[in-house]
Amino acid sequence: MANFINVILPIPLERLFTYSITEEEAKLLQTGMRVAVPFGKSKIYTGIVYSIHQTPPQAYEAKEIHELLDDYPIVTQVQLKHWEWIASYYMCSLGEVVRSALPGAFLLESETLVLRNREFEMDENELQDDEFLVFEALQHQSILKVNEVAAIVERKNVLPILQRLLEKKVILLKEEVYEQYKPKLVRYVKLGSPYTSDEKLEELLNELTRAPKQSQVVLTLFQLQGRTKKPIKVSELEKSSNSSKAVIKSLVDKQILEEYYIKTDRVSYDGNSENLDSKDLNEYQKHALTDIKASFAQAKVTLLKGVTSSGKTEVYVKLIEECMEKGLQTLYLLPEIALTTQLISRLQEYFGDKIAIYHSKYNVQERVEVWQNVLQAKSKAQLVIGARSALYLPFSKLGLVIVDEEHESSFKQFDPAPRYHARDAAVVLGNLHEANVLLGSATPSVESYHNAQIGKYGYTEITRRFGNVLMPDMELVDIKEAARKKRMKGHFSERLLLEMEDTLLAGDQIILFQNRRGFAPLLECLTCGHTPQCPNCDVSLTYHQFRNQLRCHYCGHHSALPEVCIACGSPELDTKGFGTEQIETEVSSLFPEAKVGRMDLDTTRGKHGYEKIITAFEQQELDILVGTQMLTKGLDFRNVNLVGVMNADSLLNFPDYRAHERTYQLLTQVSGRAGRTKKRGKVIIQTYNPYHQILKQVTTGDYEGMYAEQLYEREQYKYPPVNRIIKVTFKHKNYTILNEAADWFSGALRTNFGGTVLGPEYPPVARIRNQYLKHILIKVSTVQSLAQTKSNIKRIEKSFNAISLYRSVRVIYNVDHI
Ligand code: ADP
Ligand code: ZN
Ligand code: ZN
Repeated sequence: MANFINVILPIPLERLFTYSITEEEAKLLQTGMRVAVPFGKSKIYTGIVYSIHQTPPQAYEAKEIHELLDDYPIVTQVQLKHWEWIASYYMCSLGEVVRSALPGAFLLESETLVLRNREFEMDENELQDDEFLVFEALQHQSILKVNEVAAIVERKNVLPILQRLLEKKVILLKEEVYEQYKPKLVRYVKLGSPYTSDEKLEELLNELTRAPKQSQVVLTLFQLQGRTKKPIKVSELEKSSNSSKAVIKSLVDKQILEEYYIKTDRVSYDGNSENLDSKDLNEYQKHALTDIKASFAQAKVTLLKGVTSSGKTEVYVKLIEECMEKGLQTLYLLPEIALTTQLISRLQEYFGDKIAIYHSKYNVQERVEVWQNVLQAKSKAQLVIGARSALYLPFSKLGLVIVDEEHESSFKQFDPAPRYHARDAAVVLGNLHEANVLLGSATPSVESYHNAQIGKYGYTEITRRFGNVLMPDMELVDIKEAARKKRMKGHFSERLLLEMEDTLLAGDQIILFQNRRGFAPLLECLTCGHTPQCPNCDVSLTYHQFRNQLRCHYCGHHSALPEVCIACGSPELDTKGFGTEQIETEVSSLFPEAKVGRMDLDTTRGKHGYEKIITAFEQQELDILVGTQMLTKGLDFRNVNLVGVMNADSLLNFPDYRAHERTYQLLTQVSGRAGRTKKRGKVIIQTYNPYHQILKQVTTGDYEGMYAEQLYEREQYKYPPVNRIIKVTFKHKNYTILNEAADWFSGALRTNFGGTVLGPEYPPVARIRNQYLKHILIKVSTVQSLAQTKSNIKRIEKSFNAISLYRSVRVIYNVDHI
């Protein structure tokens, strides 16, 4: 009897492909294994076996597979179900989900480019003959295509060879050449070697009697060293001895103290420190934990709303402990892993080597390892921490899913497909595994809070900060008024400056939040009003002082700053608006003594950009940190006592139905960085609209008020959570074709179903990288069937593609667009 398999190929076509297999292969193959298959004239793809059967395809002759790539399934049945849900809900192909779900090393194909791993010294004797041939070829040629490799080893089926070479770290994949991981450096201090004996130390202290401050530092260090064998951080010594950086520096200069660095690997656990017991919860945390468990007992997804610094993480820790005791896996999703190294080290203190971290920026090998560990339910992957892609892992015994900062919009993948929301996909994943799901946030999304209100989700809250530290004192400062009275220095009000002085005097740290990067968004000619535009996109170029350049934030186009206006030749050019870079410059001249740092996309490029700045601020090497919304994401700094929001208005004025919700979340989160430990923190929000409702709600912590008002507006204008929205984007380089195509599509939508169809409309930036864009927004009421709507849309797309003029127009769906 003939045997066939249906295979998922990692391509955008919405169908499976049938291949024929031999009797022998049929015995070995299982669903979820990988096979190398030919496709088209000369392509080779890696595909996933979806089903095994005896029915030949109707329309074509099934080709034979090249070969099996696995001995056991690397994709589970539950994963396949989950991925099918993602494909159908987010309107993309199963192949696109597979491409985004599997680490690149699992999906070698004919177009894959390989190169030599120069970082790795290897013993040539360890290579088999065919492996050696490839290795040798890569000495002469820096990059090889898989097809070229086939010619070198004189056989068609080379994927297994390449797989072995990858495992042996001999080669790298072109698209995955990542920076090598650089551990964080922390500054430590010890007594200089001449002073380690008791006598010498006494002599030293005698010498220092006339320098009491220095003597205090030495004494404290001596005591600290007696108490613990652990290395002592410079920042720790400074705090314990009530001293300053200057005093410590002078001791280092005199060689009484020695500074040294230890690499602290923030992500891979060194296994040295003992696991700590988790903390005893306070009564509020206990209460929340009891509620959560009760709600889990009813198999409900549960929302935990806890104000910033209320100790949500410690509640998660208790749940994780219980889950581990049952031998089950936990998935801990975070919006952005690069910014959460603090949290990871904290969890490592409790769970040590049971933690695996999954990150799209890790290299192939690391990701494949985590995949295998999760698949085999190894103890070193009992707690998986990751950003959204971690939910694709092959969990076999999932017991708990935590989605931290669930309101964060970065949980939604924007590009490419699948354009999924990791929080929502995690809820579905939890269901498939019958695992508990907890969503946590200080400022829940309107959707999740709504689900709690209507009883679909369980709910509990913590309304106090841990240790009863008060919520920061928030003050709105009217900068319109201040500007009229000429009471502004640059972008700083007198109020903010005063608070900054006090904070610096007290030795505390300051965060300044400005929602824009760069120096000033625009360059404007004072004579003719001309503003330089990007040649590829419909936007004005922004001015970056640091490089003295004009840059496009959409396509990366940049040019040197013109000396004269290119339109009229006038030399009088002015910069309008302001961004983080200008704030940094102003701060530095207003407070020349203070050390100022900046955290935005420009200063944190690369994998370690964040870490350097976060570490410097943590270690109090910086007094003031200026930054964009990156600053809002769950950072736990101990010494920040003032947060200044430079201008709240740019957030409020964003043209988006979520602008108000987002403003509330952003301002509350950034304010939450202030006064987390002892003293009550202070927040100054500068604005032109001090009477704006949202700002009042932020300053009074009135989440319910914000929610009620937003829900009312969403009901009025048919937005989520009362309606679902699907955004359809059309893309084409020809303006006329794009317009015709979008009109045709929206016309068909309007005649074919009752839902609300808005547009087509140009987005604020209507051309990016020389492609014109147009959107249609479809609103589907919750009483309509979403599945029915989607299949209607797909039908329309079929007729659309039958029109030859439109076939080259790209149609992109974004379900639950946010
Ligand atoms: P959140 O995640 O709600 O912002 P965290 O979990 O970061 O709050 O807690 C804030 C601070 O309080 C942290 O420094 C944490 O170590 C401390 N903390 C929270 N709960 C406890 C507890 N039960 N015992 C001791 N310290 C706690
Ligand atoms: Zn001009
Ligand atoms: Zn551009």
